[in-house]
Amino acid sequence: MEDTICAISTSLGVGAISIIRVSGENAIEIVNNIFKGKDLTKVESHTISYGYICDGEKEVDEVLVSIMRAPKTYTLEDVVEINCHGGISTTNKVLELVLEGGARIAEPGEFTKRAFLNGRIDLTQAESVDALLKSKSDSARTIALNGVNGNLAKKIRNLRSILVELLANIEVNIDFPEYEDALEVTHSNLLPKLTIINDELKDLIATARNGKILSEGLNVALIGRPNVGKSSILNALLDEEKAIVTDIAGTTRDTVEGQAIINGILINFIDTAGIRDTEDVVEKIGVDKSLATIKKCDLVILVLNNNEELTDEDKELLEKIKDYTNIVFINKTDLKSKLLIDKDKYNIVNGNTKDLKGLDELKEKIVSIFNLDKIETKDMTYLSNVRQIDLAKKANKSIEHCMKNLSNEIPVDMLAIDIKQAWDLLGEIIGENYQDALLDELFTNFCLGK
Ligand code: GDP
Repeated sequence: MEDTICAISTSLGVGAISIIRVSGENAIEIVNNIFKGKDLTKVESHTISYGYICDGEKEVDEVLVSIMRAPKTYTLEDVVEINCHGGISTTNKVLELVLEGGARIAEPGEFTKRAFLNGRIDLTQAESVDALLKSKSDSARTIALNGVNGNLAKKIRNLRSILVELLANIEVNIDFPEYEDALEVTHSNLLPKLTIINDELKDLIATARNGKILSEGLNVALIGRPNVGKSSILNALLDEEKAIVTDIAGTTRDTVEGQAIINGILINFIDTAGIRDTEDVVEKIGVDKSLATIKKCDLVILVLNNNEELTDEDKELLEKIKDYTNIVFINKTDLKSKLLIDKDKYNIVNGNTKDLKGLDELKEKIVSIFNLDKIETKDMTYLSNVRQIDLAKKANKSIEHCMKNLSNEIPVDMLAIDIKQAWDLLGEIIGENYQDALLDELFTNFCLGK
């Protein structure tokens, strides 16, 4: 935290502008030493200065430099941003000079980590910054921005403040029974407060699935024997040629992914290698991979060929998909029907990719299975990742345990244990208490320069 850090904050490639960000105690001095123009140590905060970045006497690039003095900055430290001409060579050269001047290269997400450690943002906001950078749909962006603005943290803090008040009153009751101003915590005045918290947590947990769908989208696997038309269906769903279509069985040897937005939700379609028993080593890897893919997906679409009789492999797959949310797509309905299947037993859509039949129906089915048309998008405050959901569930368990003990007339001071635990767990969501390993894991997934 004492080092001055720097990184290229824009993506590295050919572009009009690149930004090199520097943060820390020596940020202004380091940049000033390689800058020809105004004396940056004397310019006002939150101003932009024009000049040149120099390597000794030699001008390297014409730049604009933003000076932002602590504490009103992203990291709460002095921050300098050098806007130089885009392009790999110039950007790297400017970065190199900043490094030579005494800064060190930032780790991924280190600017945001400092913003968190310096107390400007909480952990849910930091996670939302990352989600915002990676958002691929409107709804994902809205949820992430909501998180960045601290709305989820506000909800959690409200719950914690009710809990801490209860804890404080219980403590006073125990330590200073003679203190008359303190509210005496009884079973009857504890219950309504715990009920409020229980309901709020339950609501947060129940809507978390929608939050996850809105921010991460759905993963949908297309499975089936080789040559039934999986790649053609993927291409038709995406309106772009992504997968290779041939009539040699086993062409799609690796998984191919493509995305479509349905009802504002990002749907990630994964075309898996044709599933069949195979001796071919490369193809076998593909088949194993597709079986593993299915496990990680929210929905499995099994594709069958209308023009062929049901094979043993098809029957096996029909059994396999029962463990997952599934749709059976009977493809090639433009050809003569030879397939016999019990229509009442499966969730079937018929169609073909030659005349593009049944694909809208397939999309509608996805909408109805996940109620995508009913997802509430007004208050976009959701628990939006596994870490947050897991902690909320544990906190809810503690509250429920407490309520159960309450109804069993357990003394109030004993109930404080569960209340304290719920308070701690909710604190973990916003990062009031954390472990270094968690921070390392969280921030290493960030982009460089953020
Ligand atoms: P995959 O191996 O399951 O991915 O199957 P492909 O998408 O590669 O398709 C295999 C063959 O079936 C190709 O020759 C496609 O043109 C053909 N095909 C795919 N869908 C249809 C369809 O709906 N009707 C007809 N007649 N042929 C299709």
